[in-house]
Amino acid sequence: MKLLFVEDEKRLSEALSHLLRKKGYVVDTAENGETGLDLATTGFYDIIILDRMLPGIDGIAVLKAFRSQGFDTPVIFLTAKDSPRDRVEGLDAGADDYLVKPFSTDELLARLRALSRRKNKDFQENTIAIAGLILDPLRGEVVKDSTTIIQLSVNYGQVLTKARIFEKVWGYSSEIEFANVDLYIHYLRKKLNTSLIKTARGVGYYLEDGDDV
Ligand code: CA
Repeated sequence: MKLLFVEDEKRLSEALSHLLRKKGYVVDTAENGETGLDLATTGFYDIIILDRMLPGIDGIAVLKAFRSQGFDTPVIFLTAKDSPRDRVEGLDAGADDYLVKPFSTDELLARLRALSRRKNKDFQENTIAIAGLILDPLRGEVVKDSTTIIQLSVNYGQVLTKARIFEKVWGYSSEIEFANVDLYIHYLRKKLNTSLIKTARGVGYYLEDGDDV
């Protein structure tokens, strides 16, 4: 599971990331709203933990911008004040859950588990497994080992280079050869019986109706 933790309080950010990594999560951090939104919209995270009070763009604005771009990644919202109005605002902006600071790390871990269970359940009902990868046509995601690798719907019309696909799917340290990207794309096209996956010759692949470039 890949987590994005957007939090400007350095000590909290460091302590919590350390703990989450020890629990087996892959954690990226952002110290302000702008970087948080940039990273979030790569579509590579399974769950986002987002603080409300951030310098620059605050958490509510980050969340609204994120949702308005069509992302449905689960978001746990962190608020410092526990007033019903704050919670309502967070949930209305598109949060799936919230925690009031200071919170116990056990509670955060339990909520992360609950969100991943929900994600996995949605997932199993609508997915296609192929060659060790799982494709979720509803969400437009390709997933391996419970981690979203590529969010196709978001990358629609945008060329994904072979190097990027290779890095995301297998990682650079993998034994698998680079040429396998072409082979797997071939499997995907065949299995899905679709002409939507186009080849950008010498570069990579993209999703689009119409002819190859
Ligand atoms: Ca803060």
